[in-house]
Amino acid sequence: MEINGCTCVCGLIGNPVEHTMSPAIHNTLASEQGVNLVYVPFHVPFGQLEEAVKGAFALNLLGVNVTVPYKSAVLPFLEGTDPLAGQIGAVNTLVRGERGFVGYNTDMPGLYRAMCEDGVNIEGEMVLILGAGGAARAVAMLAARKGAGKIVLLNRTYMKAESLAEEVNRAAGRKIAMAMALEEYSRLPSEERFLAIQTTNVGMFPKTEETLIKDEAFYRKVHTGYDLIFNPARTRFMSLVEKGGGRAFSGLKMLLYQGIIAYELWTGRQVQAELARKAYGEMKRAMGIS
Ligand code: NAP
Repeated sequence: MEINGCTCVCGLIGNPVEHTMSPAIHNTLASEQGVNLVYVPFHVPFGQLEEAVKGAFALNLLGVNVTVPYKSAVLPFLEGTDPLAGQIGAVNTLVRGERGFVGYNTDMPGLYRAMCEDGVNIEGEMVLILGAGGAARAVAMLAARKGAGKIVLLNRTYMKAESLAEEVNRAAGRKIAMAMALEEYSRLPSEERFLAIQTTNVGMFPKTEETLIKDEAFYRKVHTGYDLIFNPARTRFMSLVEKGGGRAFSGLKMLLYQGIIAYELWTGRQVQAELARKAYGEMKRAMGIS
């Protein structure tokens, strides 16, 4: 693509950003649709987030993605947030407003699109969420909105799971979520089979041999395991779910769709299924997997 005076710039702010897959998604979409846009990662040093956000707006960036550790920290520097992002309390996509960026959360709808494509149902399910951080917030709100039967939040820091469960119950207007300390996982009822969504960073590259729970008995209670981690594309959590007889999915497709929804917000263009598949192929190629 030729870069000229009309080229729009989008990018990712985070720390670190060096291993991001997002350029493969956005640059593929833009070049396939003939949109004059480039997407680049920006490493933002700690303490310089405000300057980065205001500078990006002043430099006329069309759109910005936000990643760890800034998804909530960025909120004070925005013109506003879309209602869904406000409820989740974290944003991963900034869209230009009149005087500053407006924050959106495309992680949650991205996960939902990925689950629909993978044939994973939420309605009426017993949903077990491992973790209670930023990603878990989006997952818990999604599960509540899509009619989960029950949501169990299992986290190392019990207090965080407890306060997230309270927030979810308040937002849902019913007592649907409950908290559990991680070490109590063996008390999960053995007659239940769960849709387990792994939202912690345990097992991420380079510590790929790690996983939050190693006990094989736990995995026999899981009929479907969704790991939000996408690097490696196959985690130890996924292997254990499959060994226990369940279906397992990685976070790679969620990453694809959170990117596609952001791109659609920035450009106003729709991404059709065939182009989504092409971008998915480019992501896999960038990761060295077939
Ligand atoms: P976060 O807010 O920092 O939360 C991290 C969570 O992991 C917390 O629940 C934390 O427990 C738990 N945790 C971390 N280290 C642990 C350890 N050694 N033992 C037990 N628990 C541990 O991070 P986040 O933003 O939610 O992101 C979490 C993961 O989701 C990352 O791997 C990220 O790549 C992935 N993600 C993927 C996508 C996608 O598109 N696929 C999108 C968003 C996020 P405590 O509360 O006890 O600290």
